[in-house]
Amino acid sequence: MEQAIQTYLDMRKRLKAYEYFDWLAGWDRETEAPKGSQAYYSKMVEVMALERYALESQADYMNAIETLYEHLDTLDPDLRVEIKNANKALRMIKCVPKDELIAYQVLVSGASNVWAQAKDNDDFAAFEKTLEQVIAFNRKLVKYLETDTLKGYDVLLDLYEEGMGVKDYDAFFDHLRTELVPFVKEVMDAPKKTYPRRLKSARYPKDLQHTFSMYLLDVFKYDQSHGVLKTSAHPFTSGVASVDTRITTHYDETNITSSIFSTIHEMGHAIYEMQNDPKYDETNLHGGSSLGIHESQSRLYENMIGRSRAFWDTHYGALVNTFPKQLKNISLDDFFGYINQAKRSLIRIEADELTYALHVMVRYELEKAMINGRLKVSDLPKKWRLLMGRYVGKRPANDKEGVLQDIHWSFGSIGYFPTYALGSAYAAQIYDAMAKDLDIDQLIRTNQISVINAWLKDHVHRFGQSKTPKEIIMHATGKPFDPSYYVTYLKDKFRP
Ligand SMILES: [Zn+2]
Repeated sequence: MEQAIQTYLDMRKRLKAYEYFDWLAGWDRETEAPKGSQAYYSKMVEVMALERYALESQADYMNAIETLYEHLDTLDPDLRVEIKNANKALRMIKCVPKDELIAYQVLVSGASNVWAQAKDNDDFAAFEKTLEQVIAFNRKLVKYLETDTLKGYDVLLDLYEEGMGVKDYDAFFDHLRTELVPFVKEVMDAPKKTYPRRLKSARYPKDLQHTFSMYLLDVFKYDQSHGVLKTSAHPFTSGVASVDTRITTHYDETNITSSIFSTIHEMGHAIYEMQNDPKYDETNLHGGSSLGIHESQSRLYENMIGRSRAFWDTHYGALVNTFPKQLKNISLDDFFGYINQAKRSLIRIEADELTYALHVMVRYELEKAMINGRLKVSDLPKKWRLLMGRYVGKRPANDKEGVLQDIHWSFGSIGYFPTYALGSAYAAQIYDAMAKDLDIDQLIRTNQISVINAWLKDHVHRFGQSKTPKEIIMHATGKPFDPSYYVTYLKDKFRP
């Protein structure tokens, strides 16, 4: 056992270094790298992927994990979780043929570029073949990784959110479909308030938006000695340790709110990882418990804090100072109503809180159908429009605003989207628990978001990956997951 532990720890140290440089190169691709360098990068990635594979598949390392997995009970609790996860990851190496796995890694390393060009040109056909290959591999992957309890799409869902399969998600989305689709219709049918046209028609220069994003970093106490803010086509957070957690945002000069809420959203993700216990930095337990828990933190910061009245009572003045011409004579009431209006929309990341989960439900149903073989990639744009009409009530006129809008499938992330809706639902339950301990509005008004950060650190963040999503929800709220907190929150906020 001692020998096995030592072998595991030695290899972990080496693999962490590979992971770090892989992470750094990935960050560079998305933020700085010139387009023309892609082919060269892909060649380098192929070599590195082979090197890493050779390490991960070394017999003594695999044997060590197997030995430790057989004696899980004797390990200390943190190592026990690591070995459980390592054994799960090892199945990828043991059950999937090496040449197929490497070919797939090369495919997805270049696919986001193919996707970006197809999106720019509104040309689904240019992405179709790549997406077909991604789906084909994932359908094979499902067969390779199936267990007695996980079948089909379950296998992929479980990779992103342990313990959530088709049965669980079907129940969750059925609840949302029953409660929210008619409620959304009721809200949309109610008389609409109108807002000053200038909010939408003014031009908001990028450099000023950047100034305000930097202001937001200070308000939320995002630690700039351990993180940076850059721009990318699709905002994201990328962290490797509590000491290095970076974010991006996206500046749209015709839209004042897009970068504000992207920046706050990504800060929510980043503060989570920055507040992980530093003891996890050099282990495999750094990061979020799951994608759903991760998204719960970004949504809590973005929607429950960032769109609250207390927040804008406190910070609207600073926004007006940044855009004095554009926001002249626009009242706080108008701005506050404008950022919280619910409307039928096409773009998920721009969607309001009320309809957001319905955008996700569209993707869930499409993925499920593609993995089950009931939907061909070539039929995807048509089916996308159909479901958008049915749930959100608005159909895109082109694929750029439809099926090509998200980067995820180009990364090979199938089974990822449903965690977004789950995250919003977790957030409502966690916020409810936090509101029992703290006067959240008062803390926001007195610029003490650090106290909110500290509560979340204690109840959620510090554990990194050492607890499962179910354990985190239980620890933070004292109850198992219950989607009714989410539906209640939405109905209270948006009831006409
Ligand atoms: Zn997010």
